[in-house]
This record gives sequence, C-alpha cells and structure tokens, in this order.
Amino acid sequence: MVFKSVDKAENRLKSDIIVVPFWQGKAAARQAASVRDLKSVIDVPISSKDYKGKEGQTLLIYLKGKKDKRLLLLGLGDEKTCTVERLRRSYAAFVKRCDQKKWKIANVLLPTCSQLSEEEVCYGVCEGISLTNYVYDQMKSDRDPSKYSLGKVYLVGIGKEGEKIGKRVDEIMSGVNLCRDLVNGNADDVIPETLAKTARELAAKYPSVKATIFDQKRIEKEKMGLILAVNQGSACEPRFIILEYLGNPKSKERTVVVGKGVTFDTGGLIIKPKGGMEDQRGDMSGGATAIGLIQAAAATGLKTNVTCVVPSVENAIGSRSMKPGDVFWSYAGKSVEMLNTDAEGRLILADAVAYAEKHLSPTRIIDLATLTGGVIVALGDERAGLFSDDDELAEKLKVAGDKTGELLWRMPIDPEYKDALRSEIADIKNIGNRSGQSSQAALFIKEFIKKTPWTHLDIAGTAYLEKPRRYHQSTATGFGVRLLVELLTQIDA
Ligand SMILES: [Zn+2]
Repeated sequence: MVFKSVDKAENRLKSDIIVVPFWQGKAAARQAASVRDLKSVIDVPISSKDYKGKEGQTLLIYLKGKKDKRLLLLGLGDEKTCTVERLRRSYAAFVKRCDQKKWKIANVLLPTCSQLSEEEVCYGVCEGISLTNYVYDQMKSDRDPSKYSLGKVYLVGIGKEGEKIGKRVDEIMSGVNLCRDLVNGNADDVIPETLAKTARELAAKYPSVKATIFDQKRIEKEKMGLILAVNQGSACEPRFIILEYLGNPKSKERTVVVGKGVTFDTGGLIIKPKGGMEDQRGDMSGGATAIGLIQAAAATGLKTNVTCVVPSVENAIGSRSMKPGDVFWSYAGKSVEMLNTDAEGRLILADAVAYAEKHLSPTRIIDLATLTGGVIVALGDERAGLFSDDDELAEKLKVAGDKTGELLWRMPIDPEYKDALRSEIADIKNIGNRSGQSSQAALFIKEFIKKTPWTHLDIAGTAYLEKPRRYHQSTATGFGVRLLVELLTQIDA
C-alpha cells in the first residue's frame, strides 16, 4: 500500500472514502480534524447526539460531492487518555469497513491530539491501517487480495514528513507480512527447505543480505545432534539457516536473532492430543519472525548489523522418530535425556544458540519461539514471556514492545527452576515438570550459552490467533518483527 500526504483537507484529491476522526464527548462527538466543505453533512449526526465518537465507532455516509464518494466518521475515544495503540485499533476499524467493498483510495484525516506528537499520531494511524490491510486468501478458490485491500491512502493534515513515516511503516510491514505468509502457508508447503529458499531469495534481492544454508549432510558434519534427533522421523531434510544483514559493516556490534523453525509439530511419539495439533503449522513462527526481521531491516536500510539463525525441522512421526528415554548429544557437547518428544523446540534452539555464540560473534542473542503452553496459561495472547540474564537488554526490549504494541512481561529464571531438569543418566533432561515449565524451558536454552547476553521470548500465545482481533486476522500476527526493528533502531541511535 502507498501512503501519500496532503497538507490540508482543502487540497485533497478524489477518493472512494474520506475518514474524519472524532474524540468521544459526553454529550456528542467532537471533531478531531476539520474539513470545512463537509461541515454541513457532518453536523447532522453530531447534532442528533447519536454518534458519540467511542473508540472504533464508525458511521458511514454517502456523499453527492465531487471529491469523495463516501464519508466515514471514526471514533477515537477520549482524547486525554489517547495512545498510539488506541489510534492503531481505531483506524483498524476503518480498514475493516472497506473489506470487500473495492474501496481503493482513501483520504484519511489525521487527528490533532493533546497527548501525542504529530509524528506519533502519524505512526499510529499508518500502522493501524497497514496491519489491518493484510489478507491471506491463498486457500480460497476465488482469491483476489485486491478485492479486499486498500491501494492508496492520502494522509491529510501533514506535510512530506507524513509520507516518510508512511514509507517506513510500509517497509517494516513487508517483513511482518512475509512472516505472516510463511506461518499461514500449509505445513506441507512450508517445510524447512521453503524457509531456506525464502532466505536465499532475500539474499538475491538485497546486496546487504547474505544467506548460508546447511543441508542435512552439513548439519551431520557439524554434529548438531539435537536438530538431527528432532527431525529424524520426518520425510523432509532439516535446514540450518543463517541470514546476515550488514547495515553497518564497520561496526563489530551484531545482534543475533534465533527463531524456532519447527514447520509442523505432531509432538513426536509422545503425540499431541486431538485439538492440540491444528495450529502446529505455526510452530515455526519464531523462525518466520527472524526471517521477516531481515526483510524489514533490509527494506528500511537499518544502520546496524543483525543475523538471523533458524534451525528448521519437522517433528514428525515415523519408524525413525526419536524415542522417549534415549539420550542425544548436542552441538555444544552436552548430552540430553529425551523424556518428552514434544519438548523439541528447546532442543533445536540449544544447538542453534551454541553455534551462534561460537561462530557468529554476537553482541547479544535473542531467541523467539512458540515454546510452552505454560506461557499461554500465564499471559494469554496479550503478552509474550520475556526471560533474560541481562537487565539492560530486557528493559530495552520491553520499552520497544510498549512502543510497537507488542507487549512483553518479564518472567523469572531463578536457578532453582533448573533443578527439575536434573538427569540421572545424562547432563540434562529436556523436560521438567508442569509447574514453572516456561522458566524451565528458558533455563534449558540458557544452558547452551556461555557468556553472551541473552533473552528468550516465548511467543506461544502471541504469534497465532484463533479469532481475528484488533488489527489482526485470525492466524499469524507477525509478532516480534516490529518490536525487533524498534530495538535495533534504538541500539543504532
Ligand atoms: Zn512440541
């Protein structure tokens, strides 16, 4: 989608719909941006006091005028408590009204808000519109995304800086939507090699991106025993994907983002129950976020270095599937007693973080994974769990998430949680007990990192939605891409 800007409402061009924002008032709604030539039309519902301007409340009016075919009143709620997130949610309501109506061009008035700067307002509006303007209909016979999505949005009431903001949001969204597409695709279509192919395509597209892919033979040669163990029941080969983005080649600073890439998780021989498997194509969401981040970093031209690492496997059932009770050797040389074949994410991450620390000179390692059901019990789909051994990194991530609306909540990693992972026959067990399971899983990963500052984000609840919500369709949200772009932008500043 293209964002253009227009300084004043009087100078706007023709549109299918003009969007006029309102603040909620006690008696009636209060206009948050003015458009003089439509005053008489707007005055009618306002003076009736029927329209209150509640958050996301819309009212559609058809116009006879020359410039706009339709007028949408859009409620933003109370001005005094307005936030960027509220603007995202409110403007999402506008895009939902456009759904299936072939409205392609919109004039969108930006509100003036006593609580937010012009830049913040513009970001909120652009993000709300862009995030909602995504359609995944590749599994429908009458698919045609142009039927649903907006093509051009004129941001009205802001100069050229509005266009710059719109362009940046659009570039970041290219990473979010790549992530969503990868997660939403069929599990039989998006296999480890598909993620590798996507990585190679990014490297071909951007000179600043370099892809290195390990195939099965190379993974064997590297002795990544846990990745091989998880994949051994699958008909697909595993892949180990390294995607480097160099935004500041002179700097030694390098963030490594490791994403869990289990393209389908049956649970292995300890199979998941009925109802527990239908969303498991999403078990590569962490990996998709890491790849989406590289797309976003390259598209925006971030001035920092970031490397994404995706260990990608399929946790399948077959005669060769890893067997509960067996012990496997990790890349780091530690042995792992495998007691639950469904606790596979931490295994592939263990090999990946150990490799990253040894070979990729990371300043910090951040891993993202749909890792535990425990984090969904604790935090639902509102926040992802944050586990870290570095207070500064944890705080920066939390601040970045507050800014982008991808909220995090810090969880404990006290060493006592690790007691549950003690094994009689190996160095460590891959599963402890139910209570405190998310912290145990985080501590398992930490076992394989020697000294690099590290944070683990458990996105099991936030990566994938069962029902559409706010600015997301059901299924993949792309959680983490915008958050990590924001973090890297801060690190760069
Ligand atoms: Zn699993």
